[in-house]
Amino acid sequence: MKKTITVIKGDGIGPEIVKEAMRVMDRVAEKFGHTFTYQEAAAGGCAIDQYGTSLPAESLEKCLNCDSVLLGAVGGPKWDNVDPAIRPEKALLTIRKEMGLYANLRPAKLFPQLASASPLKQSIVDEGIDFLVVRELIGGVYFGKRETKEVDGELKATDEMSYSEHEIERIARVAFNTAMKRGKKLISVDKANVLDTSRLWRKTVERIASEYPQVELSHMLVDNTAMQIVKRPSQFDVVVTENMFGDILSDEASMITGSIGMIPSSSLGEGTRGMYEPIHGSAPDIAGTGAANPVGTILSAAMMMKYSFDMDAESDAVEAAVNKVLDQGYRTADIYTEGTKQVTCSQMGDLIVENI
Ligand code: NAD
Repeated sequence: MKKTITVIKGDGIGPEIVKEAMRVMDRVAEKFGHTFTYQEAAAGGCAIDQYGTSLPAESLEKCLNCDSVLLGAVGGPKWDNVDPAIRPEKALLTIRKEMGLYANLRPAKLFPQLASASPLKQSIVDEGIDFLVVRELIGGVYFGKRETKEVDGELKATDEMSYSEHEIERIARVAFNTAMKRGKKLISVDKANVLDTSRLWRKTVERIASEYPQVELSHMLVDNTAMQIVKRPSQFDVVVTENMFGDILSDEASMITGSIGMIPSSSLGEGTRGMYEPIHGSAPDIAGTGAANPVGTILSAAMMMKYSFDMDAESDAVEAAVNKVLDQGYRTADIYTEGTKQVTCSQMGDLIVENI
């Protein structure tokens, strides 16, 4: 297969971690007979320095004309005080909106080799943590009408939460399709005992379920879900939920796996094109020191193969290589513990490439 990937290296550790992910993709291409062509696009702080804007038109054009986007991270203290209209983060929001990426997929997977990094009790961790949160990304309360006005002599603030059937249908389909690629168990999370949006959510998800008879669907209230994630995370396979619930639950889910440098994410819309990035930021404190962990970005590339390119075997090969390297005891500084072997960002990349 031939695929064109727009690569945004970004700021801080971005260029270092993306370089390793590209080397891993090249190895996959060589082993499985594919051609990955990369087109680099400037975005973030480095683009402000070079072009005076965090997202030059040409970069957006490249994101809209490719098979998927791979992103490192953007931002840093140097650009903290620039005009909000051109802030580094604004580039990502614009790309997501212009690409119509309404589904955010974030896995919470604990590598057994890193179990001691989880804040959960050993007995809970031993049951395994391997699930995926599918979050609706461009609707709900974050995108509703909002206002603060004076009423009866005091300030009153209102944020409106709304969902239309078509918005729920499309995210539900992403969730069911994702469940089909995993353990075929989907839990839809809402607050249907209180909210109208949640009641419509539940009804719509149930309707879409009839298209996916192989997937076992159940519903869980959001407050209970928050408890169950720390009580028995092994019960989850795929979780689908609206924007704000997903924002909170996906952070809780990533925390229990212990390490920010290891976790990938993807944002998808209609069709197969997506944007793939690690969940962490540009880590300016360690940029250029070789201490960055490239695994979150490498696993983001693996997600791209699985969810955008239908390359399941290729994606599995990358995950297996990461597992092997961890089994062999190699660790970047962020996940280093006594008795393991500390390696740099590029050495970690070398090891993963060798193991594919
Ligand atoms: P951060 O995620 O960059 O760093 C938090 C801590 O985790 C730091 O100590 C850092 O060294 C460490 N860390 C992060 N990624 C790591 C990795 N791969 N390997 C090893 N250690 C890692 O969060 P922050 O410091 O709050 O933000 C720094 C900048 O990144 C800010 O400008 C912020 O706006 C931006 N940011 C960008 C994105 C994005 O591009 N999607 C996301 C979050 C934050």
